[in-house]
Amino acid sequence: MKKSKGSKAAEAYSTQALDSAREEFAMETSLRRAIENDQLHLVFQPICDLATGRVESFEALARWTDEGGSAYSPVRFIPVAEESGLIVPLGRWAIDTAARTLAGWDQRRGRDCGVSVAVNLSPIQLQRDNIAEVVGRALDQAGLAGRRLKLELTESAIIADPERMARVLMSLKALGPTIAMDDFGTGYSNLASLQKLPIDLLKIDRSFVTGMLHDRDKVAIVRAILSLAQALGMATVAEGIETVEVGQTLAALGCTYGQGWAYARPLEAEAAYAFLLERNG
Ligand code: C2E
Ligand code: MG
Ligand code: MG
Ligand code: MG
Repeated sequence: MKKSKGSKAAEAYSTQALDSAREEFAMETSLRRAIENDQLHLVFQPICDLATGRVESFEALARWTDEGGSAYSPVRFIPVAEESGLIVPLGRWAIDTAARTLAGWDQRRGRDCGVSVAVNLSPIQLQRDNIAEVVGRALDQAGLAGRRLKLELTESAIIADPERMARVLMSLKALGPTIAMDDFGTGYSNLASLQKLPIDLLKIDRSFVTGMLHDRDKVAIVRAILSLAQALGMATVAEGIETVEVGQTLAALGCTYGQGWAYARPLEAEAAYAFLLERNG
C-alpha cells in the first residue's frame, strides 16, 4: 500500500520518538552504572560578595564523564535521573560529597575555612526521599555544622504540595542549613507561599541577569526581585554574571552576592580550594 504524506510524517515522528526513548534508556542504564561506580564528580562555582569580591560560598554542581570519555551536561542527565528515580541516590551522593569536601577544606585550613557549600535539591528528591535524615547524616559524618550547608530548591518543588513542603523545609532548617530558592522568577510559585516558607535566600535566574545591560525589561525584573527579597528579609544571589559591568550594576542595585563567569567558572575541588585561599586569604 502506498503511504500518504501524513502517515509518512507520522512514521518519521514515531521513529524519532523511539530513537529518543532508546537513547534515554541507554543513558539511564549508563547513569545507573556511573552512580554505582562512583563516576560522577562535583565541581564548585564560587559565589562572591559583590561589594568586596570575597568568596561567600560555593555551589556544588554535578558532572558526569562516561567510560568512553563523553561528558554529559547536568541539563541532560538530571532530567533522566529524575524520571528514572536515580535522582534519589544521585542526590544523596551530592549532599555527602559536598559536605565531605568542605570538611576536607576546613581540615587543610586548620580551621573553619569560612565559606558554605550549596547543593541543588530536585523536587523529586524532596518528595520521595527522607531528605532531613539524609542531610542530618551527611553533616554528622562530615563533622560539619548545619549552617555550612545551603540547600537550593526550585519553585516547582513547592507548587506540587506546599503544605508538605513547609513541613519538610522546617525539618531541614532545624538542622541549620540556609534554604535558597533557585532560578527565581522562572517558575510559578505564588508570593504568599514564598512568604510562608522558611526561605533565606533568592537566587535571581540568569535569564534576567546575563544580558541585563542591554535590556530594560530585565533590569526592571531584577529590581522587582531585589525589592521583594528585601521586603521579605531574604538575601539575594544573582546567577550568570558574565561581565564585571553586570556585577557592578547588580551591586549598585542592592544585590548582595553573585556567581558567574566574570568571577569564576565551576572549578574542580582542588582549584576551588586554591581560589578560596587566593581570594579570602
Ligand atoms: P543551577 O542550579 O541554576 O546552576 C547554575 C548553572 O549556571 C550551572 O550550570 C552553572 O555552570 C551555570 N553558570 C554559572 N555561571 C554562569 C554564567 O556566567 N553564564 C552561564 N551561561 N552559565 C553560568 P550547570 O553546571 O550546567 O548545571 C545546570 C543545572 O543542573 C543546575 O542549574 C541545576 O539545576 C542542575 N544540577 C547540577 N548539579 C545538580 C545536582 O547535583 N543535583 C540536582 N538536583 N541538580 C543539579
Ligand atoms: Mg543551583
Ligand atoms: Mg540556579
Ligand atoms: Mg539556573
